[in-house]
Amino acid sequence: MAKTAVTLGIDIGGTNSVFGFVDREGKVLAEASIPTNADEPASMLLARLAVITEEVFEPIKSTCELKGIGIGAPNANYYRGTVENPPNLKWDGIVNIVELIQSKYSLLPVAITNDANAAAIGEMTFGAAKGMKNFIVITLGTGLGSGIVVNGDLLYGHDGFAGEIGHTTVFPDGRYCGCGKRGCLETYVSAGGLCRTVFEILAESREESKLRTLCFSDLTSKKIFDLAQKGDPIAVKAFDRTGYLLGIKMADAVAHTSPEAIIFFGGLASAGDLLFGPTHRSMEDHLFGIFRGKVKLLQSGLKEDNAAVLGASALIWNELKKKK
Ligand SMILES: [Zn+2]
Repeated sequence: MAKTAVTLGIDIGGTNSVFGFVDREGKVLAEASIPTNADEPASMLLARLAVITEEVFEPIKSTCELKGIGIGAPNANYYRGTVENPPNLKWDGIVNIVELIQSKYSLLPVAITNDANAAAIGEMTFGAAKGMKNFIVITLGTGLGSGIVVNGDLLYGHDGFAGEIGHTTVFPDGRYCGCGKRGCLETYVSAGGLCRTVFEILAESREESKLRTLCFSDLTSKKIFDLAQKGDPIAVKAFDRTGYLLGIKMADAVAHTSPEAIIFFGGLASAGDLLFGPTHRSMEDHLFGIFRGKVKLLQSGLKEDNAAVLGASALIWNELKKKK
């Protein structure tokens, strides 16, 4: 009997690294997760991954053939195969992950990109962007990531880092961003950005709100969402403001690449209409006329619990397809 072709998708996160063996249809046949231990050097994480992926592969080894490895990681450079000064990992400078992985997996094809780009390829291969050639994926979590697909290809740009909409400027003298700049979109549109906006609105108004009893460190985007659903005026306003700014930047993004759809992925994206109602209105208001009424805003078509693994796996499936 012919063996089922599978790829290994690995997502390296600041806290945990998850991986899974995925077939061509996007079915995860085996998966697991290990702590990243962000203080360790990359080589130690990869050594632990090599051991545990082998263990997890063992039960399906007789029926599956491993074709390649795809990796999603912060600050990953697709062209060079490197991870460069990642914000949440204490890795020194530039680490060539593709070389390190290939030395452990007998030179199988390996590709790496950042997690938002992996999400975009995941949506194209297995999710909401199936059949689309021009779209943008926005990941809304602790930060705002983006992956841009043009004519069926992910946009990597001149140096491999294209698609950083989260670090484009909304207000030049605005909020301080983790990247060192000020006023980045991510400081307004992200889980943390939403919390900062709540405190801004609380300071500006006298309206009653349950949010007044919470201190900043206890505030989460989930609590704001729950209160907004119950009609808390401050929580609703915070979503309105967040959507308004997101809509402006999406209108800009549309002007650059003319996508068929913008797909939202990640924790904050599950807020649904609370966020995307104002986002859509603002985007339409700020769009250049020829684009109005043409761009769909969609939620991710990938299951949240293994979306990162599917994205990383889709990355290498896509590479294998290109090679053919
Ligand atoms: Zn920034």
